[in-house]
Amino acid sequence: MYYDVIIIGGGPAGLNAALNFGRGMKRTLIIDEDKPRNRVTQMSHGYLTQDGVKPTEFKRKAKADALKYKDVTYLKEYVELIEKVGKVFKIKTQFQTFQARQVLVATGLREQAPNITGFNEFYGQSIFYCPWCDGYEMHNKRLAVIFSGEMMTHMVKLLSNFSKDLVVFTNGEEDISKKDKVLLDNKGIDVYTATIARFIGKNGQLSAIELNNEQTISVEGAFARMHWDTQFDFLNQLNISRDENGKFETDLYGATSVEGLYVAGETKDNFGSQLLDSAANGGVVAKVMMMKQIEEDFDLWEI
Ligand SMILES: Cc1cc2nc3c(=O)[nH]c(=O)nc-3n(C[C@H](O)[C@H](O)[C@H](O)COP(=O)(O)OP(=O)(O)OC[C@H]3O[C@@H](n4cnc5c(N)ncnc54)[C@H](O)[C@@H]3O)c2cc1C
Repeated sequence: MYYDVIIIGGGPAGLNAALNFGRGMKRTLIIDEDKPRNRVTQMSHGYLTQDGVKPTEFKRKAKADALKYKDVTYLKEYVELIEKVGKVFKIKTQFQTFQARQVLVATGLREQAPNITGFNEFYGQSIFYCPWCDGYEMHNKRLAVIFSGEMMTHMVKLLSNFSKDLVVFTNGEEDISKKDKVLLDNKGIDVYTATIARFIGKNGQLSAIELNNEQTISVEGAFARMHWDTQFDFLNQLNISRDENGKFETDLYGATSVEGLYVAGETKDNFGSQLLDSAANGGVVAKVMMMKQIEEDFDLWEI
């Protein structure tokens, strides 16, 4: 089947793009594995009119908005490969092959957590990474800051807005600059450099961190560094330019070096942001993609 656009990924970026394509009357297929990054959480904050919404409810409403438009269809499958033959994209899922004039990749980020026993039991409930998303709910709690390197003091400063009871865990990184040591010391913030053995707690509520040197430190929550990238295997056949950090090289509106292939949301940023940022970006990129189609069609329009 041939579509004006195939959107890969049905998070806020992909679904808001689909809503705009639907209103632009473009034949649109969303292919979505339905494993958004925030599936580990119970509530999402910071989205006007949706503050405190359940992620599943947010997605249900977003899908319903986009699917109101007759040209938009949604398929819950996983994209395994994209190829470009001439001007046409071939998109293969586990079960089917589709063709499209344009492709929008809105598959979010590949997220890798620190390899620490028990991390996933607490992630999204009392361990987070984003102070803007979850700092408010964790305010005035005793918080572990599981960061090292340059990001460590940045996160300490950011989290000091929410709690003055902070304790740093570098998880094995012994090398802390003198300047950082002085800064943390002056603020009375303890730093533990031993490797973390495991997280302790019940029902998603973190209560302590056990170190490999057998010390156990009480905490009520944590913010930890996650690792993100966009090295999706399904893009391997396309030679898309990336910068030295692995971020796709695009113009302001998500156009990649492969003509007709665009990226939006966290895939474009190569960094964690928020639902509203991804949704807004998906909408902007969709309109620019449509403008490209409209201009090409206008040139061919004969009376
Ligand atoms: C713990 C946690 C808490 C958060 N809290 C908040 C909060 O309170 N407020 C807030 O605004 N944001 C929050 N976020 C961030 C928010 O989840 C992201 O900003 C947002 O989901 C990014 O949207 P996206 O559309 O770019 O990607 P995603 O929402 O990740 O959507 C990508 C979609 O693409 C699909 N996909 C991936 N690969 C394929 C493939 N090959 N084929 C088909 N489909 C594919 C995925 O399954 C997924 O459905 C939180 C995130 C986490 C992890």
